Amino acid sequence: MFKTETHMHTSEGSACASASGAQQAEQYKALGYSTIFVTDHFINGNTAADRSLPWEQWVDAYCLGYENAKRRGDEIGLNVLFGIEYGWRGTDLLVYGIDKSWLKENPDIAQISVQKFCKRVRLAGGMIVHAHPFRQEPYITELKLIPDYTDAVEIFNAHNAKAVYNERAKWYAEQFSLPVTAGSDCHHIGGARFSGVKTQTEIRSAEDYMSAALEGRVELITFAGE
Ligand SMILES: [Zn+2]
Ligand SMILES: [Zn+2]
Repeated sequence: MFKTETHMHTSEGSACASASGAQQAEQYKALGYSTIFVTDHFINGNTAADRSLPWEQWVDAYCLGYENAKRRGDEIGLNVLFGIEYGWRGTDLLVYGIDKSWLKENPDIAQISVQKFCKRVRLAGGMIVHAHPFRQEPYITELKLIPDYTDAVEIFNAHNAKAVYNERAKWYAEQFSLPVTAGSDCHHIGGARFSGVKTQTEIRSAEDYMSAALEGRVELITFAGE
């Protein structure tokens, strides 16, 4: 089986992360993963890229963590793929299947409604995964669900503070018959809380991952929570 990290951050892209893209690539290679998605916090989340930059330059700065991880991944034999973690007033959506040039072509995506954003991502062939939908932390002021605009649900997040947040996410996915995923939400080097998915075939592109997740061909990497 091949291991894929679906949800992780870099210090170049996310203000709350301490591990650089290159360090993350090395960490995941050492842990036996074959693929990682870099999903840094977007401009409507805890981005590390200067929000005062013009859009195209902001996108360049935002993508640096992914690009540095990819460069190191190419050297050491790790697939490094692009994703984003889109912020919707404390609610987080993981987006796959779009790239840097699509971001540059869509300069208004942090201003339009979340429903319009999701529609546009789907039109471009991308996928929306609701990250940790039932996490409760001071920065999350309300729990918001948009099942009609959600392609899959992250039912195991390794950095949720309580196991019940994952149990509720599993309930949500079951109630709405939504496909399921798991991810670490890793921001740093070290620790033991690693998750992601296992597949029979190697994930070499966002398309490989999207079809595996939507068709239920992913095995979730989980562990007992506190
Ligand atoms: Zn973060
Ligand atoms: Zn995250």
